[in-house]
Amino acid sequence: MANRTPLIAGNWKLNLDHLQAIALVQKLAWTLQDGKHDHAAVEVAVFPPFTDLRSVQTLISAERFELRFGAQDVSEHESGAHTGEISASMLAKLECSYVIVGHSERRQDHAESDAIVGRKAAAALRHGIVPIVCVGETADDLEQHGASAVPVQQLRDVLAELPATGEIVVAYEPVWAIGSGKAATADQAQQVCQALRQVVAEVRGDEAAAATRILYGGSVKSGNIAGFMREPDVDGALVGGASLDATEFAAISRFQ
Ligand code: PGA
Repeated sequence: MANRTPLIAGNWKLNLDHLQAIALVQKLAWTLQDGKHDHAAVEVAVFPPFTDLRSVQTLISAERFELRFGAQDVSEHESGAHTGEISASMLAKLECSYVIVGHSERRQDHAESDAIVGRKAAAALRHGIVPIVCVGETADDLEQHGASAVPVQQLRDVLAELPATGEIVVAYEPVWAIGSGKAATADQAQQVCQALRQVVAEVRGDEAAAATRILYGGSVKSGNIAGFMREPDVDGALVGGASLDATEFAAISRFQ
């Protein structure tokens, strides 16, 4: 895994109001604290709904919890007549470290193209927020083109919208593995993550590729995380359902 610090990211999706968010973050921080001696350096981040972010920020900073947090989406626009949108500068004010862009649910539900995803990532970078760029193939894509072709093309098209520098994280999330209980094998994840790292190398150079964290996502749980983390090009996980349970998410963060 070279010198990359693993990242375990919990995508809460459309779950938990701000009071429930406070309870989960508190329990998660305490559980992580208890097991601290037996896990290596790892960054743990949560991605609550927008309406929870202020509460999560206040709690984490007051208690000095070693947790990062971010948003599940961001506007490509800076301000103005864009009803319902949230800007990267607003997220930066809330001390968001990360923002997820291009999750397959947003690509599907909101028809987000790679160009839009790229512009959202660019907006995040302009405000010092690290975008987590999600790519992944559907079951149909897998059957027709194999695993790598679609995510590789998606990443190329997103990177085309970005400046040549600025930290990004890539998340490989096969759509067929999300919420299905049917995760990719560690070997499948490794093959695609390696291909994605190659794309980063071609577009941004070898040094950037070696420094860029690439996550696997799709039905990750405590029972399968260790296998993914053993792979050289998998630097962590984007976790959906299993991130809503503090004990389970803490166990994933320890790779066990
Ligand atoms: P899952 O979701 O862990 O529930 O499969 C992953 C994701 O959508 O990020």
